[in-house]
Amino acid sequence: GLDTKVKAIIKSVKKAKAGDYENRIEIKGNDEFAVLGNELNELCIIQLKTEEMRRRFVSDASHELHTPLASIKLLSDSILQTPDMGPENIKEFLLDINNEIDRLTRISGKLLQITRFDDLEGKTSLTPLDLKPIIDEVCRMLKPFAAATNRKIRCELAPDCIVSANFDLVYQIFYNLIENALKYGGENRTVYVYLYKRDGQAVVIVDDEGEGIPEDDLLKIFDRFYRVDKARSRTTGGTGLGLSIVKSAVHHCNGTVEAQNRKSGGARFIVKFPLH
Ligand code: ADP
Repeated sequence: GLDTKVKAIIKSVKKAKAGDYENRIEIKGNDEFAVLGNELNELCIIQLKTEEMRRRFVSDASHELHTPLASIKLLSDSILQTPDMGPENIKEFLLDINNEIDRLTRISGKLLQITRFDDLEGKTSLTPLDLKPIIDEVCRMLKPFAAATNRKIRCELAPDCIVSANFDLVYQIFYNLIENALKYGGENRTVYVYLYKRDGQAVVIVDDEGEGIPEDDLLKIFDRFYRVDKARSRTTGGTGLGLSIVKSAVHHCNGTVEAQNRKSGGARFIVKFPLH
């Protein structure tokens, strides 16, 4: 009867309130109570997934922070426990410690960016923006980094590609993508950036001439902390967070991002935003 259905729903809501998202209601028939029961079940499933994601994020983040901390501890212990260590050796160990601290700084900086995006979620902070000057500015900022290793950036950017976006997010997106293209594109190589309009969208392509990305990893590289080659990425100072930031930022601006391999070798990243 009606009474038992309402009671079953109240019981289930109370369980969910207490944190039991595994509980499911089963209400027979197809009246409004059955619909309500199903909605409640779906809400519990979403909550369960969110919790799982949060748990994984905290566990991954702790792991990523733990590794450099463990190195720093090992290095400083070595210095302290070797009374007759020469200044040359001490200096070498301090350089390693310094590198690990830089790494921790990069990770915590990116983690801060991520929480800032999570706060932005749902809030509208989008304004009409021309993409060309922003990408030009990113390239200007990355020029010294590129020049230091003999890499070049070539841009072909169309004017008047106006999209609904947020300046900081757009800057972050292309800074991360072009920096990656320079990092993974190889020395003495060129990174190509294109911007044009197509089918009501602004399209940005970032191409490099590196080794590209294994086919199986093309989707996974956007996951938080995911790195194709942990060892190689470590020497390039990678955190595995850059592309997850790109993905959140692009979605916030109602755009899409995708990774491909170029036929001629190298990786290609395609970002699309609806034109304003
Ligand atoms: P990272 O800080 O490690 O660069 P990202 O999230 O920016 O983290 O990238 C994740 C992984 O994707 C990198 O570790 C790298 O293996 C791969 N990747 C990203 N961009 C490129 C690229 N242009 N060419 C080849 N591999 C790439």
